[in-house]
Amino acid sequence: MKQVDYIIVGFGLAGLSMAKTLQDQNKSFVVIADNNPVSSLVAGGFVSPVVLKRFTPVWQAKEQVGNCYTLFGAFEKEYKDTFIERFPIYRRFASIEEQNNWMIACDKPLLAPFLSSQLIHKDIKGVEAPYGYGEVMQSGRILVAKVLQTFRNKLIENGYFMQETLAYNDLELTQNTVQYKDIQAKQIIFAEGYAMNDNPYFKHLPLDGTKGELLIIHTPDLALDVQLKAGITLLPLGDAHFFVAATFDWHDKTNTITQAGREELMQKLDKVLTVPYRVVEQKAGVRPTVKDRRPLVGRHTTQKNMYILNGLGTRGVMLGPAMAKYLYDFIENDIALPPEVNCERYESKS
Ligand SMILES: Cc1cc2nc3c(=O)[nH]c(=O)nc-3n(C[C@H](O)[C@H](O)[C@H](O)COP(=O)(O)OP(=O)(O)OC[C@H]3O[C@@H](n4cnc5c(N)ncnc54)[C@H](O)[C@@H]3O)c2cc1C
Repeated sequence: MKQVDYIIVGFGLAGLSMAKTLQDQNKSFVVIADNNPVSSLVAGGFVSPVVLKRFTPVWQAKEQVGNCYTLFGAFEKEYKDTFIERFPIYRRFASIEEQNNWMIACDKPLLAPFLSSQLIHKDIKGVEAPYGYGEVMQSGRILVAKVLQTFRNKLIENGYFMQETLAYNDLELTQNTVQYKDIQAKQIIFAEGYAMNDNPYFKHLPLDGTKGELLIIHTPDLALDVQLKAGITLLPLGDAHFFVAATFDWHDKTNTITQAGREELMQKLDKVLTVPYRVVEQKAGVRPTVKDRRPLVGRHTTQKNMYILNGLGTRGVMLGPAMAKYLYDFIENDIALPPEVNCERYESKS
């Protein structure tokens, strides 16, 4: 029997963040994760501390950005590889009024660290932008698929990773232990993304799911070297390839790419680009979203050694590290979870 402190179920951004947090605290764990399509492998990985539709800060922006770069920076040091790409976001203005709103936002204390008050009037070949751009700082991109693969390989090498779908019926639970096949742990953390809806212990929680699709296009004529936000997000991937993200669909809960998704993105793209392009790839995934737009973190109501880390929604790269830290401190150091993320907020209402 293999004895560990924790079992983590799931290895997307939530499971990875939890595993790294435990590793840094010298806790032993085994990750159990299957090979099903996951949201984290579709994610653009963008780090954006500001909601650029309305010029408002992301909830806990400063802390989340800090935790994100700390956690993925630690991976960079450990593996001597690049997992973070830093570049500014240019928010294209649609009118003079938007320029004015931007300048007002720049003076707000929560936004000032992230928004530059220097408006940018630069010709970017291939982009129509008569009103110029506002620049977001401290933004960038996490190379999610690469860091997941690298960490997964290391965990497999060390015998800390089981690749399979956890069968809930095979869990043997006492108040002090959790046993699954030949692994015995003190605690179990479920980080299953949208698949939580099949988990008998937590499926009563309101994890809604919002499907997103994105494109990868090829256009040698576009001279863009920053992330561009203009109704859609455009990001250079190198070699004249660009990410185009993303759609939001609250009804379809499948990972299947659609013609409607492709057309929606291309229509938005056509309003921004003045140069021809070719779609080379299309991807789809379901974001684990919650109605109140806050994560689901915390302890099961009766099984006291069972926990959840979910609901990262549209911001897995920023929320994953921050929520893993909260959960760790809650379990190990008895520090209360922020009420906004504690899954108890839904238990008490039912
Ligand atoms: C199109 C799109 C673009 C996005 N862009 C961004 C972005 O730019 N920036 C950003 O921060 N976020 C982005 N997101 C959101 C981000 O992808 C999610 O917040 C994040 O991936 C959620 O991670 P997760 O670990 O909770 O879930 P997932 O990534 O879905 O991982 C769930 C894990 O659980 C496993 N699993 C589930 N059930 C079981 C079981 N019973 N047994 C074993 N394993 C199980 C799965 O195999 C997987 O390993 C985007 C999402 C989409 C769809």
